[in-house]
Amino acid sequence: MALIVQKFGGTSVGDAERIRSVADHVARTRAAGHDVVVVVSAMGKFTDDLIRLADDVSPTRPPRELDMLLTAGERISMALVSMALGACGVESASFTGSQAGIITDSEHTRAKILEMRPERIREALAAGLVPVVAGFQGVSTERDITTLGRGGSDVTAVALAAALGADVCEIYTDVTGVFSADPRVVAKARRLPRVSFDEMMEIAATGGRVLMLRSVEFARRHSVPLHVRSSFTWEPGTWIVEEDPTMEEAVVSAVTDDTSEAKITVSGVPDRPGIAAKLFRELADRGINVDMIVQNTSLNGMTDISFTVGKTDLAAAIVACEKVKDEIGAAQVTSDDNIGRVSIVGAGMKSNPGVTALMFETLSTNGINIEMISTSSIRISCVLRADRVAEAVRHLHTAFGLDGA
Ligand code: ASP
Ligand code: MG
Repeated sequence: MALIVQKFGGTSVGDAERIRSVADHVARTRAAGHDVVVVVSAMGKFTDDLIRLADDVSPTRPPRELDMLLTAGERISMALVSMALGACGVESASFTGSQAGIITDSEHTRAKILEMRPERIREALAAGLVPVVAGFQGVSTERDITTLGRGGSDVTAVALAAALGADVCEIYTDVTGVFSADPRVVAKARRLPRVSFDEMMEIAATGGRVLMLRSVEFARRHSVPLHVRSSFTWEPGTWIVEEDPTMEEAVVSAVTDDTSEAKITVSGVPDRPGIAAKLFRELADRGINVDMIVQNTSLNGMTDISFTVGKTDLAAAIVACEKVKDEIGAAQVTSDDNIGRVSIVGAGMKSNPGVTALMFETLSTNGINIEMISTSSIRISCVLRADRVAEAVRHLHTAFGLDGA
Protein backbone atom coordinates (compact mmCIF):
# COMPACT_ATOMS: atom_id res chain seq x y z
CA MET A 1 0.00 0.00 0.00
CA ALA A 2 1.34 3.36 -1.00
CA LEU A 3 0.53 6.99 -0.28
CA ILE A 4 -0.06 8.75 -3.58
CA VAL A 5 -0.58 12.46 -4.20
CA GLN A 6 -2.66 12.92 -7.36
CA LYS A 7 -2.72 16.43 -8.83
CA PHE A 8 -5.26 17.29 -11.51
CA GLY A 9 -4.68 20.32 -13.75
CA GLY A 10 -7.29 22.66 -15.20
CA THR A 11 -8.22 20.60 -18.25
CA SER A 12 -8.49 17.46 -16.10
CA VAL A 13 -11.29 19.08 -14.06
CA GLY A 14 -12.59 21.24 -16.94
CA ASP A 15 -16.26 20.21 -16.71
CA ALA A 16 -18.63 17.96 -14.76
CA GLU A 17 -17.85 14.93 -16.89
CA ARG A 18 -14.09 15.36 -16.43
CA ILE A 19 -14.62 15.76 -12.68
CA ARG A 20 -16.64 12.54 -12.53
CA SER A 21 -13.92 10.70 -14.41
CA VAL A 22 -11.28 12.07 -12.00
CA ALA A 23 -13.36 10.88 -9.05
CA ASP A 24 -13.72 7.48 -10.67
CA HIS A 25 -9.93 7.22 -11.08
CA VAL A 26 -9.32 8.22 -7.47
CA ALA A 27 -11.89 5.62 -6.38
CA ARG A 28 -10.06 2.93 -8.38
CA THR A 29 -6.72 3.94 -6.85
CA ARG A 30 -8.29 3.59 -3.42
CA ALA A 31 -9.82 0.24 -4.32
CA ALA A 32 -6.32 -0.96 -5.22
CA GLY A 33 -5.44 -0.35 -1.56
CA HIS A 34 -3.63 3.00 -1.72
CA ASP A 35 -4.08 6.15 0.31
CA VAL A 36 -4.69 9.17 -1.88
CA VAL A 37 -4.37 12.94 -1.40
CA VAL A 38 -5.91 14.91 -4.26
CA VAL A 39 -4.71 18.38 -5.31
CA VAL A 40 -6.73 20.36 -7.86
CA SER A 41 -6.29 23.37 -10.13
CA ALA A 42 -9.07 25.74 -11.13
CA MET A 43 -11.40 24.44 -13.84
CA GLY A 44 -10.24 25.04 -17.42
CA LYS A 45 -9.24 28.65 -18.03
CA PHE A 46 -11.07 29.93 -14.96
CA THR A 47 -7.99 31.65 -13.51
CA ASP A 48 -7.54 33.64 -16.74
CA ASP A 49 -11.24 34.58 -16.67
CA LEU A 50 -10.89 35.86 -13.11
CA ILE A 51 -7.83 37.94 -14.04
CA ARG A 52 -9.81 39.45 -16.91
CA LEU A 53 -12.63 40.31 -14.54
CA ALA A 54 -10.16 41.94 -12.16
CA ASP A 55 -8.73 44.01 -15.01
CA ASP A 56 -12.23 45.11 -15.95
CA VAL A 57 -12.82 46.68 -12.55
CA SER A 58 -9.35 47.96 -11.68
CA PRO A 59 -6.30 49.02 -13.68
CA THR A 60 -3.84 48.19 -10.90
CA ARG A 61 -4.35 44.54 -9.96
CA PRO A 62 -4.13 45.05 -6.16
CA PRO A 63 -2.04 41.99 -5.18
CA ARG A 64 -3.82 41.04 -1.94
CA GLU A 65 -7.27 41.20 -3.51
CA LEU A 66 -6.12 39.49 -6.69
CA ASP A 67 -4.91 36.55 -4.60
CA MET A 68 -8.21 36.42 -2.73
CA LEU A 69 -10.04 36.39 -6.06
CA LEU A 70 -7.90 33.79 -7.82
CA THR A 71 -7.96 31.27 -4.97
CA ALA A 72 -11.72 31.05 -5.53
CA GLY A 73 -11.05 29.03 -8.69
CA GLU A 74 -9.41 26.17 -6.84
CA ARG A 75 -12.08 26.26 -4.12
CA ILE A 76 -14.74 25.52 -6.71
CA SER A 77 -12.74 22.55 -8.05
CA MET A 78 -11.99 21.07 -4.63
CA ALA A 79 -15.62 21.14 -3.52
CA LEU A 80 -16.90 19.65 -6.77
CA VAL A 81 -14.24 16.88 -6.82
CA SER A 82 -15.03 16.06 -3.22
CA MET A 83 -18.76 15.83 -4.02
CA ALA A 84 -18.06 13.64 -7.05
CA LEU A 85 -15.94 11.35 -4.85
CA GLY A 86 -18.87 11.04 -2.46
CA ALA A 87 -21.07 10.02 -5.39
CA CYS A 88 -18.52 7.26 -6.17
CA GLY A 89 -18.80 6.00 -2.60
CA VAL A 90 -15.46 7.46 -1.51
CA GLU A 91 -15.52 9.47 1.70
CA SER A 92 -13.60 12.71 1.30
CA ALA A 93 -13.28 16.27 2.53
CA SER A 94 -11.97 19.37 0.80
CA PHE A 95 -9.40 21.75 2.28
CA THR A 96 -8.20 25.20 1.26
CA GLY A 97 -4.46 25.79 1.13
CA SER A 98 -4.71 27.52 4.49
CA GLN A 99 -6.60 24.59 6.06
CA ALA A 100 -4.00 22.23 4.61
CA GLY A 101 -1.31 24.14 6.52
CA ILE A 102 0.56 25.68 3.60
CA ILE A 103 2.33 28.65 5.19
CA THR A 104 3.90 31.15 2.81
CA ASP A 105 5.71 34.47 2.83
CA SER A 106 3.73 37.65 2.06
CA GLU A 107 4.78 38.10 -1.57
CA HIS A 108 1.28 38.20 -3.03
CA THR A 109 0.80 36.58 -6.46
CA ARG A 110 4.14 34.75 -6.21
CA ALA A 111 4.42 33.61 -2.62
CA LYS A 112 6.99 31.05 -1.54
CA ILE A 113 6.20 28.24 0.86
CA LEU A 114 7.93 28.73 4.21
CA GLU A 115 6.51 25.83 6.12
CA MET A 116 4.15 22.88 5.73
CA ARG A 117 1.84 21.97 8.63
CA PRO A 118 -0.49 19.41 7.08
CA GLU A 119 -1.96 18.16 10.37
CA ARG A 120 -5.53 18.24 9.10
CA ILE A 121 -4.54 16.29 6.01
CA ARG A 122 -2.85 13.65 8.18
CA GLU A 123 -5.94 13.45 10.38
CA ALA A 124 -8.21 13.08 7.37
CA LEU A 125 -6.03 10.26 6.00
CA ALA A 126 -6.01 8.55 9.39
CA ALA A 127 -9.80 8.76 9.44
CA GLY A 128 -9.93 6.97 6.08
CA LEU A 129 -10.90 10.04 4.03
CA VAL A 130 -9.49 11.25 0.75
CA PRO A 131 -8.42 14.86 1.38
CA VAL A 132 -8.95 17.13 -1.64
CA VAL A 133 -6.68 20.17 -1.41
CA ALA A 134 -6.99 23.41 -3.37
CA GLY A 135 -3.77 23.93 -5.31
CA PHE A 136 -1.89 27.19 -5.94
CA GLN A 137 -2.73 28.81 -2.58
CA GLY A 138 -1.54 29.22 0.97
CA VAL A 139 -1.77 31.54 3.92
CA SER A 140 0.94 34.04 4.78
CA THR A 141 2.61 34.59 8.12
CA GLU A 142 0.53 37.83 8.14
CA ARG A 143 -2.59 35.58 7.92
CA ASP A 144 -3.49 36.74 4.42
CA ILE A 145 -4.45 34.42 1.59
CA THR A 146 -1.66 34.09 -0.99
CA THR A 147 -1.05 32.39 -4.33
CA LEU A 148 2.11 30.61 -5.43
CA GLY A 149 2.43 32.00 -8.97
CA ARG A 150 0.85 30.77 -12.20
CA GLY A 151 0.92 27.01 -12.50
CA GLY A 152 1.46 26.84 -8.74
CA SER A 153 -0.78 23.83 -8.13
CA ASP A 154 2.16 21.64 -9.13
CA VAL A 155 4.12 23.18 -6.25
CA THR A 156 1.25 22.49 -3.83
CA ALA A 157 1.20 18.84 -4.90
CA VAL A 158 4.95 18.35 -4.59
CA ALA A 159 5.13 20.18 -1.27
CA LEU A 160 2.36 18.02 0.18
CA ALA A 161 3.97 14.86 -1.18
CA ALA A 162 7.26 15.85 0.47
CA ALA A 163 5.67 16.81 3.79
CA LEU A 164 3.56 13.66 3.98
CA GLY A 165 6.38 11.39 2.79
CA ALA A 166 4.30 10.21 -0.18
CA ASP A 167 5.67 7.45 -2.39
CA VAL A 168 4.91 9.33 -5.59
CA CYS A 169 3.39 12.58 -6.78
CA GLU A 170 1.29 11.99 -9.89
CA ILE A 171 0.70 15.05 -12.06
CA TYR A 172 -2.31 14.53 -14.33
CA THR A 173 -2.57 16.75 -17.37
CA ASP A 174 -3.83 16.76 -20.95
CA VAL A 175 -0.68 15.27 -22.48
CA THR A 176 0.64 11.75 -21.94
CA GLY A 177 3.97 12.84 -20.45
CA VAL A 178 7.18 14.69 -21.24
CA PHE A 179 8.17 14.50 -24.89
CA SER A 180 11.48 14.60 -26.77
CA ALA A 181 10.14 17.86 -28.30
CA ASP A 182 6.83 19.70 -28.42
CA PRO A 183 4.61 17.28 -30.42
CA ARG A 184 2.87 20.29 -32.01
CA VAL A 185 6.22 21.27 -33.53
CA VAL A 186 7.73 17.84 -34.17
CA ALA A 187 5.30 15.18 -35.39
CA LYS A 188 7.87 12.48 -34.66
CA ALA A 189 8.39 13.50 -31.01
CA ARG A 190 8.36 10.58 -28.58
CA ARG A 191 7.21 10.30 -25.01
CA LEU A 192 10.16 9.87 -22.63
CA PRO A 193 9.51 7.03 -20.16
CA ARG A 194 12.03 8.41 -17.69
CA VAL A 195 13.83 11.73 -17.20
CA SER A 196 16.25 12.74 -14.44
CA PHE A 197 15.47 15.71 -12.18
CA ASP A 198 18.40 17.62 -13.66
CA GLU A 199 17.20 17.08 -17.21
CA MET A 200 13.65 18.03 -16.27
CA MET A 201 14.88 21.26 -14.66
CA GLU A 202 16.61 22.21 -17.91
CA ILE A 203 13.59 21.17 -19.99
CA ALA A 204 11.21 23.17 -17.80
CA ALA A 205 13.54 26.20 -17.82
CA THR A 206 13.97 26.26 -21.60
CA GLY A 207 10.40 25.99 -22.81
CA GLY A 208 9.08 22.52 -21.89
CA ARG A 209 5.57 23.49 -20.86
CA VAL A 210 4.49 20.40 -18.95
CA LEU A 211 5.74 21.16 -15.44
CA MET A 212 6.37 24.36 -13.54
CA LEU A 213 10.11 24.81 -12.93
CA ARG A 214 9.70 25.50 -9.21
CA SER A 215 7.84 22.25 -8.67
CA VAL A 216 10.69 20.28 -10.26
CA GLU A 217 13.27 22.09 -8.09
CA PHE A 218 11.17 21.27 -5.06
CA ALA A 219 10.77 17.61 -6.03
CA ARG A 220 14.50 17.26 -6.60
CA ARG A 221 15.37 18.86 -3.28
CA HIS A 222 13.03 16.52 -1.40
CA SER A 223 13.58 13.48 -3.65
CA VAL A 224 9.87 13.16 -4.48
CA PRO A 225 9.43 10.94 -7.55
CA LEU A 226 7.09 12.58 -10.06
CA HIS A 227 4.92 10.78 -12.58
CA VAL A 228 3.49 13.05 -15.30
CA ARG A 229 0.56 11.39 -17.07
CA SER A 230 -2.69 11.97 -18.88
CA SER A 231 -6.12 12.13 -17.27
CA PHE A 232 -7.65 11.48 -20.68
CA THR A 233 -5.99 8.11 -21.41
CA TRP A 234 -4.78 7.21 -17.90
CA GLU A 235 -1.81 5.36 -19.44
CA PRO A 236 1.63 5.40 -17.73
CA GLY A 237 3.46 8.62 -18.59
CA THR A 238 6.92 10.00 -17.77
CA TRP A 239 8.73 9.32 -14.50
CA ILE A 240 10.95 12.10 -13.21
CA VAL A 241 13.40 10.57 -10.80
CA GLU A 242 16.94 10.67 -9.46
CA GLU A 243 19.61 9.89 -12.07
CA ASP A 244 20.26 6.14 -12.17
CA PRO A 245 24.05 5.64 -12.13
CA THR A 246 23.73 2.09 -13.46
CA MET A 247 22.05 3.27 -16.64
CA GLU A 248 23.69 4.75 -19.71
CA GLU A 249 22.26 8.24 -20.18
CA ALA A 250 20.94 9.42 -23.52
CA VAL A 251 23.34 11.96 -25.04
CA VAL A 252 20.40 14.19 -25.93
CA SER A 253 16.98 13.48 -24.44
CA ALA A 254 14.98 16.47 -25.62
CA VAL A 255 14.94 19.51 -27.88
CA THR A 256 13.02 22.46 -26.46
CA ASP A 257 11.94 25.81 -27.86
CA ASP A 258 10.97 29.09 -26.30
CA THR A 259 9.79 32.27 -27.99
CA SER A 260 8.72 34.04 -24.81
CA GLU A 261 11.90 36.10 -24.47
CA ALA A 262 13.34 39.23 -26.05
CA LYS A 263 16.93 40.40 -26.43
CA ILE A 264 18.43 43.66 -25.20
CA THR A 265 21.83 44.91 -26.30
CA VAL A 266 23.73 47.63 -24.50
CA SER A 267 26.49 48.66 -26.88
CA GLY A 268 29.60 50.78 -26.60
CA VAL A 269 30.13 49.84 -22.97
CA PRO A 270 33.54 50.66 -21.41
CA ASP A 271 35.36 47.42 -20.51
CA ARG A 272 35.98 48.16 -16.82
CA PRO A 273 35.22 46.35 -13.56
CA GLY A 274 31.83 47.25 -12.09
CA ILE A 275 29.99 48.09 -15.31
CA ALA A 276 28.11 44.81 -15.69
CA ALA A 277 27.49 44.78 -11.95
CA LYS A 278 25.81 48.20 -12.10
CA LEU A 279 23.63 47.23 -15.05
CA PHE A 280 22.43 43.93 -13.65
CA ARG A 281 21.93 45.33 -10.14
CA GLU A 282 19.53 47.89 -11.63
CA LEU A 283 17.60 45.07 -13.37
CA ALA A 284 17.58 42.86 -10.28
CA ASP A 285 16.29 45.66 -8.06
CA ARG A 286 13.30 45.95 -10.39
CA GLY A 287 12.59 42.24 -10.05
CA ILE A 288 13.54 41.50 -13.65
CA ASN A 289 14.82 38.00 -14.30
CA VAL A 290 17.70 37.95 -16.79
CA ASP A 291 18.36 34.76 -18.69
CA MET A 292 21.16 34.40 -21.26
CA ILE A 293 24.00 36.94 -21.07
CA VAL A 294 26.71 37.42 -23.66
CA GLN A 295 29.54 39.95 -23.50
CA ASN A 296 31.84 40.41 -26.47
CA THR A 297 35.62 40.55 -26.26
CA SER A 298 36.43 44.22 -26.07
CA LEU A 299 37.88 46.21 -28.91
CA ASN A 300 39.72 49.42 -28.00
CA GLY A 301 38.39 49.16 -24.45
CA MET A 302 34.75 49.02 -25.59
CA THR A 303 32.38 46.08 -25.58
CA ASP A 304 28.71 45.11 -26.07
CA ILE A 305 26.54 43.27 -23.58
CA SER A 306 23.47 41.35 -24.79
CA PHE A 307 21.00 39.49 -22.64
CA THR A 308 17.51 38.05 -22.79
CA VAL A 309 14.49 38.78 -20.58
CA GLY A 310 10.89 37.62 -20.68
CA LYS A 311 8.87 39.64 -23.22
CA THR A 312 6.58 40.71 -20.39
CA ASP A 313 9.59 42.33 -18.68
CA LEU A 314 10.99 43.96 -21.82
CA ALA A 315 9.56 47.44 -21.36
CA ALA A 316 10.68 47.62 -17.72
CA ALA A 317 14.13 46.27 -18.65
CA ILE A 318 14.61 48.95 -21.32
CA VAL A 319 13.72 51.65 -18.80
CA ALA A 320 16.30 50.20 -16.38
CA CYS A 321 19.02 50.10 -19.07
CA GLU A 322 18.28 53.63 -20.25
CA LYS A 323 18.59 54.79 -16.66
CA VAL A 324 22.09 53.38 -16.17
CA LYS A 325 23.26 54.05 -19.75
CA ASP A 326 24.80 57.45 -19.07
CA GLU A 327 26.11 56.42 -15.68
CA ILE A 328 28.12 53.54 -17.20
CA GLY A 329 29.02 55.52 -20.32
CA ALA A 330 27.29 53.21 -22.79
CA ALA A 331 26.52 54.36 -26.35
CA GLN A 332 23.07 52.90 -26.90
CA VAL A 333 20.38 50.44 -25.82
CA THR A 334 18.57 48.41 -28.48
CA SER A 335 16.05 45.60 -28.23
CA ASP A 336 14.69 42.83 -30.40
CA ASP A 337 11.61 40.77 -29.62
CA ASN A 338 11.75 38.63 -32.75
CA ILE A 339 14.05 36.05 -31.27
CA GLY A 340 13.55 32.49 -30.13
CA ARG A 341 15.64 29.97 -28.32
CA VAL A 342 16.32 26.35 -29.19
CA SER A 343 17.96 24.07 -26.63
CA ILE A 344 19.14 20.50 -26.52
CA VAL A 345 19.14 18.75 -23.14
CA GLY A 346 20.74 15.47 -22.15
CA ALA A 347 22.56 14.06 -19.12
CA GLY A 348 24.86 12.03 -21.39
CA MET A 349 26.26 15.22 -22.90
CA LYS A 350 28.73 15.47 -20.01
CA SER A 351 30.73 12.49 -21.26
CA ASN A 352 30.24 12.81 -25.02
CA PRO A 353 32.35 15.19 -27.07
CA GLY A 354 31.02 16.54 -30.36
CA VAL A 355 27.50 17.40 -29.24
CA THR A 356 28.04 21.14 -29.60
CA ALA A 357 29.66 20.70 -33.00
CA LEU A 358 26.76 18.59 -34.28
CA MET A 359 24.25 21.15 -33.05
CA PHE A 360 26.00 24.05 -34.77
CA GLU A 361 26.57 22.02 -37.96
CA THR A 362 22.89 21.09 -38.09
CA LEU A 363 21.86 24.72 -37.83
CA SER A 364 24.41 25.95 -40.35
CA THR A 365 23.63 23.22 -42.91
CA ASN A 366 20.09 24.52 -42.85
CA GLY A 367 21.14 28.12 -43.21
CA ILE A 368 20.06 29.10 -39.71
CA ASN A 369 22.14 31.83 -38.10
CA ILE A 370 23.05 31.61 -34.41
CA GLU A 371 22.85 34.93 -32.56
CA MET A 372 23.70 33.91 -29.00
CA ILE A 373 24.91 30.73 -27.32
CA SER A 374 24.80 29.53 -23.74
CA THR A 375 25.54 26.20 -22.13
CA SER A 376 25.27 24.26 -18.89
CA SER A 377 26.85 20.86 -18.30
CA ILE A 378 23.77 19.14 -19.74
CA ARG A 379 22.28 21.80 -22.05
CA ILE A 380 23.21 23.88 -25.08
CA SER A 381 20.98 26.80 -26.10
CA CYS A 382 21.08 28.97 -29.22
CA VAL A 383 19.16 32.16 -29.87
CA LEU A 384 17.84 32.40 -33.43
CA ARG A 385 15.34 34.44 -35.44
CA ALA A 386 11.91 33.53 -34.05
CA ASP A 387 10.60 32.38 -37.43
CA ARG A 388 13.38 29.78 -37.77
CA VAL A 389 12.79 28.14 -34.39
CA ALA A 390 10.29 25.45 -35.44
CA GLU A 391 12.42 24.14 -38.31
CA ALA A 392 15.54 24.27 -36.12
CA VAL A 393 13.81 22.06 -33.55
CA ARG A 394 12.80 19.57 -36.23
CA HIS A 395 16.30 19.36 -37.75
CA LEU A 396 17.95 18.94 -34.35
CA HIS A 397 15.43 16.28 -33.34
CA THR A 398 16.40 14.29 -36.43
CA ALA A 399 20.15 14.96 -36.13
CA PHE A 400 20.29 13.65 -32.58
CA GLY A 401 18.40 10.49 -33.46
CA LEU A 402 15.26 11.34 -31.52
CA ASP A 403 12.68 10.83 -34.29
CA GLY A 404 10.21 8.10 -33.43
CA ALA A 405 8.68 5.66 -35.88
N1 ASP B 1 -5.05 27.89 -11.57
C1 ASP B 1 -3.71 28.39 -11.44
C2 ASP B 1 -3.22 28.87 -12.79
O1 ASP B 1 -3.94 28.81 -13.77
C3 ASP B 1 -2.78 27.40 -10.83
C4 ASP B 1 -2.56 26.14 -11.62
O2 ASP B 1 -3.29 25.83 -12.55
O3 ASP B 1 -1.61 25.42 -11.30
O4 ASP B 1 -2.12 29.34 -12.88
MG1 MG C 1 -1.22 24.02 -14.53
